Amino acid sequence: MLSSDFTPMSKLSIKDLDLSGKRVFIRVDFNVPLANAGQEITSDKRIRASLPTIQYALQHGAGVILASHLGRPKGKPSAEMSMKPVAKKLEELLGKPVTLAPDCVGPEVEALLPAPGGVLLLENLRFHAEEEANDPAFSEKLAKLCDVYVNDAFGSAHRAHASTVGMIAYVKQAAAGLLMDKELEYLTKVTQNPDRPSVAILGGAKVSDKIEVIENLAKVVDKVLIGGAMAYTFLKSQGHATGKSMVEDDKLDLAQKLLAEFGSKLVLPVDHVVAAEFKEGADNENVVEIPADKMALDIGSKTVELYESIIRGAKTIIWNGPMGVFEKPPFDRGTMALARAVAESGAVSVVGGGDSEKAIKTAGLTNKISHVSTGGGASLEFLSGQVLPGVAALTDK
Ligand code: AMP
Repeated sequence: MLSSDFTPMSKLSIKDLDLSGKRVFIRVDFNVPLANAGQEITSDKRIRASLPTIQYALQHGAGVILASHLGRPKGKPSAEMSMKPVAKKLEELLGKPVTLAPDCVGPEVEALLPAPGGVLLLENLRFHAEEEANDPAFSEKLAKLCDVYVNDAFGSAHRAHASTVGMIAYVKQAAAGLLMDKELEYLTKVTQNPDRPSVAILGGAKVSDKIEVIENLAKVVDKVLIGGAMAYTFLKSQGHATGKSMVEDDKLDLAQKLLAEFGSKLVLPVDHVVAAEFKEGADNENVVEIPADKMALDIGSKTVELYESIIRGAKTIIWNGPMGVFEKPPFDRGTMALARAVAESGAVSVVGGGDSEKAIKTAGLTNKISHVSTGGGASLEFLSGQVLPGVAALTDK
């Protein structure tokens, strides 16, 4: 099913639930980056992202059960992927005790179920292979822990696992949490009902990764600005010289087909920053024609001006993927310039993908973006027009 046939906003929200005296199971995305053999959390961003939902449930009289996966323990318990540091961090952030269960299902967990106002964090769901296998018996055991179910794990909504899909068959009501609601609201707005002119900015390494996104968004938005290495597959398909730039030669036909289908909606770079080596600080120059012995590592200054002028006029902007080799300055200039342009545009703006998010953050502009998506894979699948299984499974209003 395509998202054009489906309105995620027709799903129950946590705000529609009567939570008083109920035990609510909240599937969160606490898959945080860890260091020191799993002892230290290097970014608590994902924990903070679901605090409003947890606090909402507590304030409305629920006992809260939290569940997440963490890393890839491959179906077996692992001390390095325990939720222990997450429980500690959550306790700090919530300012109240958090009980860590020794497992995520079974009698030991059932003995710890929280009273209203209490918080129980289940141990890593992926310590059981049944989680990713979406096993019905395991799903039923998870569902047995609660009265109502809430999914706030947007970053995992593209996976049909026991905690994101399977257990919903065994609960009376399944609703979106506040974070999930916000993700769906913004992503739906920009893909189904954008204020115009609407612009998508797509960058990154490969056309093959973003092909469905380009196809789907080009149908909806007024312009798609293409940057990053994938621009060179498009340019080569038009007969331009691309030198040693990264090109997917087996995708040239596809690039040609997209250009023929969407014509001037797809906007390609008109100049480039090129270098002889793929290295931070490499000697570089701004060119229109890419020399045979050079590779394009960023969009050029004329392209930045062209893209900025289109961004300035936009009412809705979706951005996913860097315009150049953002990790290796000075090849971050195009990406940083567009980050500033998006932030200053005054448009409804939705940013997804790690590099674009980092560019916005580095420029100190996060609070000028309407919504920074928390789910890389999930937001790309959404933008490509697919219905996320974890959203489709929620109860209709
Ligand atoms: P993605 O994961 O598809 O969003 O791609 C991000 C990666 O694309 C980053 O690591 C960038 O360094 C890389 N990238 C962007 N522009 C270029 C380019 N012109 N040549 C090579 N790699 C690039």
